[in-house]
Amino acid sequence: MSFKELQLCPGILTAIEESGYKQPTPIQQQAIPAILSGTDLRASAQTGTGKTAAFVLPALHLLQTPSKLPGSGPRILILVPTRELAMQVAAETVKYSKHLQRSKTVCIYGGVPYPVQNRELSRPYEILVATPGRLLDFISQGRIRLSRIQLLILDEADRMLDMGFIEPVEEIAAATPATRQTLMFSATLKGSVLNLSKRLLKNPMEINIEPAIETHDHIEQRLHYVDNIDHKHNLLEHLLTDPTMNQVIIFTATKHLADDVAEKLRDIGHNAAALHGDMNQRQRTRTIKRLRTGDIRVLVATDVAARGIDILTVSHVINFDLPMCAEDYVHRIGRTGRAGAKGVATSFASHKDMSVLKQIERFTKQRLNPHVIPGLEPKGKASSGRPSSSRPPQRSQWKPRYNRYKV
Ligand code: AMP
Repeated sequence: MSFKELQLCPGILTAIEESGYKQPTPIQQQAIPAILSGTDLRASAQTGTGKTAAFVLPALHLLQTPSKLPGSGPRILILVPTRELAMQVAAETVKYSKHLQRSKTVCIYGGVPYPVQNRELSRPYEILVATPGRLLDFISQGRIRLSRIQLLILDEADRMLDMGFIEPVEEIAAATPATRQTLMFSATLKGSVLNLSKRLLKNPMEINIEPAIETHDHIEQRLHYVDNIDHKHNLLEHLLTDPTMNQVIIFTATKHLADDVAEKLRDIGHNAAALHGDMNQRQRTRTIKRLRTGDIRVLVATDVAARGIDILTVSHVINFDLPMCAEDYVHRIGRTGRAGAKGVATSFASHKDMSVLKQIERFTKQRLNPHVIPGLEPKGKASSGRPSSSRPPQRSQWKPRYNRYKV
């Protein structure tokens, strides 16, 4: 199937061509005609599947027909869980609307002062990309009215709920016209996400796209058994000498460790910076920009950076610490191998990590290949790898997910 067959308007097709996309991804092939037909939609699709364009492209198409509703105010509302994702989605709406009229985007999120966003909101715009908390602030101040919203899109709905945004999301939806079209994108469509979709969507069509990992064949996944943190530091130093490593994101379990690792690497001459939730938004944006422009080669981050960063030049990901759950692993490694490029994802695992390792392998349906670097072999308990008789962990053993966001 070609993009032309999707009957998007010429300005959008030009932008797609300029983006270098040859054909729509599976989620785009299914979602775009459904959205253009006006139906509500709930889709399970993860980052890396092209899901952003799957809702942005038909939304832009819809904007080319003038609204029947009087007044001013946004016509498309895209709700996302985090600032990073807000910026990412807004960057895509801007990219695909380059040749269109009536398609201005404003992006609002918490953690930054209000005046700049206030200024943006005072000019006409059609698309609003927002995190729920800051949007409610603006609504209560009377700066934003949602009475002209035609299309409400909930992106990464599961994560919004995990982060405790269920009430804000419902409040925001209630402030939009009942006649709106509603789309919900989520990694999973179970439990509270499904319940929310039943409250907000009308006779939705459902699309299920296999987890992004199915398309991560171009990411080579490696495993190093480690004895302790010193062993991790030694391995890391060695891995960073790899000349094929263009840029790398290293994930740590805590903010403190992210700072610590970044500092150690700087001390030995690496161009490294940390990224975590203790930094204010300006610092975070600046750090991501420095990674994007190649000013830094090594980013040491907590899971706050696991979603949203879309930088083609990131060739490697290193899990200095394994994440707490398998889904986060998939999001982390998806920071490399963007848009079909090749990537390498390396994970360090000590004997304490065997359970989460097993979960990751079950979730990804792939076994991580142990690698050994001569002179840096594990010597302790981890040296024997996984006991062959270890029973696959049951779901109830999964660690609670809420801790993930205190990063
Ligand atoms: P997403 O799942 O929205 O995070 O998108 C993942 C990546 O795929 C982004 O870098 C997009 O620019 C890229 N992308 C989106 N649609 C296509 C397409 N049809 N062909 C190739 N790359 C695409």
